[in-house]
Amino acid sequence: MTKLVSRRSVFGVMGASLALPHALRAQTAAFDFDVAIVGAGAAGVTAARALQKLGKSFVILEARDRIGGRTFTDTSLGAPFDAGALYIHWAERNPWRDIADALKVPTIDSSAIRGGSRFFDNGAQSERGGGRGRGGFQEIMKLFDTDEGDVPDVSLVQRVAHLGDGAQSVSGIARMALGDEPENISALDYARLWSGDDLVVPSGYGDLVGLYARGLDIRLSTPVTAIDTSGAGVALDTPGGRLRTRAAILTVPVGVLKAGGVRFTPELPVSTQEGINGLGMGALSKIGLRFDGNRFGLKAPTDVWERLGPRASINFDCWSFDRDIVVAYFGGDHARDVVGRGSKEAVAYVLDEFVKIIGPEARKSFVGAVMHGWSVDPWSMGCYSHALPGHADARAKLKQPVAERLFFAGEATGGEGFGGAMTAGGAALAGQEAAMAAAKV
Ligand SMILES: Cc1cc2nc3c(=O)[nH]c(=O)nc-3n(C[C@H](O)[C@H](O)[C@H](O)COP(=O)(O)OP(=O)(O)OC[C@H]3O[C@@H](n4cnc5c(N)ncnc54)[C@H](O)[C@@H]3O)c2cc1C
Repeated sequence: MTKLVSRRSVFGVMGASLALPHALRAQTAAFDFDVAIVGAGAAGVTAARALQKLGKSFVILEARDRIGGRTFTDTSLGAPFDAGALYIHWAERNPWRDIADALKVPTIDSSAIRGGSRFFDNGAQSERGGGRGRGGFQEIMKLFDTDEGDVPDVSLVQRVAHLGDGAQSVSGIARMALGDEPENISALDYARLWSGDDLVVPSGYGDLVGLYARGLDIRLSTPVTAIDTSGAGVALDTPGGRLRTRAAILTVPVGVLKAGGVRFTPELPVSTQEGINGLGMGALSKIGLRFDGNRFGLKAPTDVWERLGPRASINFDCWSFDRDIVVAYFGGDHARDVVGRGSKEAVAYVLDEFVKIIGPEARKSFVGAVMHGWSVDPWSMGCYSHALPGHADARAKLKQPVAERLFFAGEATGGEGFGGAMTAGGAALAGQEAAMAAAKV
């Protein structure tokens, strides 16, 4: 917290330059910076570091009063937990692994936070996991694991329809892993995702991104409202004034673009807009619950899965890193509904569900909670992107530079043929790539 306060005050002073009349600034230089980076998440921060290495001048404009975007280590419950990204996926080629090593931030294999699993149906213990449900799950995972380039661009539901009963499991997989309903997700887009070893950062993935950003010129609480490429360079409007740069890297989440959160002049090319329209945003949400040290007989760590119906489930991730915190995960339309009710009601609902499983002692030992409903967060409008069925080319369309000086980068365009999409690692790769291109403008 202290870090953010001091950072905000520093940037409050720096931000003053944005308020200068443009005519005054134009006397000193045609452009304020070589490159403006919009968004201080994984993509924006890595883009900045790449531009720094290339000797370019840049500034990061960030809407929130903190850095990290969808990587955020929340400490408000007295012990840290990652409210957004947790796993350094496919660590073999993920830039965050090397960054963590360079910064001497310890990482450990994700098996350290994977314990036993317990299954419940509406509060009643169930044998799912050992029985038919698990068979269906494994059938689907086998299909997905062996899926390669020849996958049709249809929904996940259509992709697994031939598996009969087993197909029922796709709903849970889609909601909890991809954050959305399987009808909304392109099987081809999903098949392109990379897999590999997963690591976790005990001190927090969000804090790692924050540490990597330390010392960068980041203007917090500075939302970009409009981008104009009709004149020379790029003009970016913020409540503090207008900034002109040679090029810009736009890392705002697809959800923000879809909601029209940034106005473009001239209008975006048809193909770019098709890219935005062809992507959806999942709704994976987390609620952190703090308890008083009572572990209710559950070993650290334990994964508790509660099925609430065919289209609703909660995963209670208990005592990861041996902390007195349970993180409740839920996704898809269920998450949209729950977080849409507001934090107080959502927390009460999730605690009630946990009490159904554990018993009344869970309520007695409950200390506090915090909700991260990414689908109602105005600066993300969703957890991460997926291509809609029939739109597996959407990421490639979005990635095309606009006017040869406006570059879209972020998880949505992450990693070669988009194997890195959805992840903080992919966002970093996209940020680095966009920086190389922007440096040439
Ligand atoms: C619940 C959850 C779990 C996840 N789990 C994992 C995981 O385990 N592993 C993994 O790799 N990934 C995971 N992810 C995804 C990962 O967090 C994202 O893919 C990644 O952090 C995206 O980085 P980014 O830079 O593309 O976007 P962001 O981090 O969203 O950064 C974009 C920035 O732009 C800012 N912004 C938005 N609008 C404006 C504007 N108009 N002007 C200025 N700034 C603006 C935002 O505030 C934000 O800071 C998870 C995400 C969620 C939500």
